[in-house]
Amino acid sequence: DNAQPKKPDWIRVKAPTSAGYKQTRDIIREQKLVTVCEEAGCPNVGECWSQGHATMMIMGEICTRGCTFCNVATGRPQALDAFEPGRVAHAVQQLGLNHVVVTSVDRDDLEDGGAEHFAQTIRAIRHRSPGTTIEILTPDFLKCAPSVLEKVVEARPDVFNHNLETVPGLYPEVRPGARYFHSLRLLQRVKELDPTMFTKSGIMVGLGEEPQAVRQVMDDMRAADVDFLTIGQYLQPTPKHHIVARFVTPEEFAAYEKSAWGKGFLMVSATPLTRSSYHAGEDFARLRDT
Ligand code: SF4
Ligand code: SF4
Repeated sequence: DNAQPKKPDWIRVKAPTSAGYKQTRDIIREQKLVTVCEEAGCPNVGECWSQGHATMMIMGEICTRGCTFCNVATGRPQALDAFEPGRVAHAVQQLGLNHVVVTSVDRDDLEDGGAEHFAQTIRAIRHRSPGTTIEILTPDFLKCAPSVLEKVVEARPDVFNHNLETVPGLYPEVRPGARYFHSLRLLQRVKELDPTMFTKSGIMVGLGEEPQAVRQVMDDMRAADVDFLTIGQYLQPTPKHHIVARFVTPEEFAAYEKSAWGKGFLMVSATPLTRSSYHAGEDFARLRDT
């Protein structure tokens, strides 16, 4: 779409070349794993993979939803692979990760939305790598019984992340099939089920939202006791996806970050290249050590 603004020079993607990058890639291939880093064409892949950070995507490469910002294919997913939790756990051990992020496609076709598969993956990682902190980034389990969330929380991830993705007014065009207040309530319920678990959420900006609406989302998150916040620039994965309405400037990101700290989040990352999983391990370690 030629109506889009030109990419500014603060969005720079470094070509992945290091030995660490290749090693991470080889382990991921060997264990036949899918990563968000590749699926989303994440601009940080060179940096993250060279340091052995990757976001594992479980439950297949086909999603039952069709969010307009997302590069994952929509359709009817394949059956769950019962060996996948073990392969993820093996890769986490081989990569020697201190912190791992596990996410998934949305599985509206499964009665529990994949909650048990998430729980098994968490337990398998814990078993092989007891020192690794585990962050999960889950779907919204919109069509499931409320009790499925308990299965996931009982597996005791260290950080429970569910992204709101955008401001409520843009849900119909950005996240059709999702409900803003359902997602917010999911985060709140995690905290109610286990007040010691850290909760996290994030949004993309540059989709056409007003800054005031972003600040309202922050307030909504804090009202739901969300601990960690990420805000990053939306980038269009292909010309078929939602347009980039605007490139938010680094100064505006800094202002969002300042507001967020003022609202009481325990951890905030708000920069153009912030992604839900960007530097998640370091941030978490810093928080734990303070
Ligand atoms: Fe992967 Fe997240 Fe790093 Fe992007 S920011 S490369 S998705 S770990
Ligand atoms: Fe992509 Fe997640 Fe939306 Fe599926 S639910 S289309 S994986 S953002």
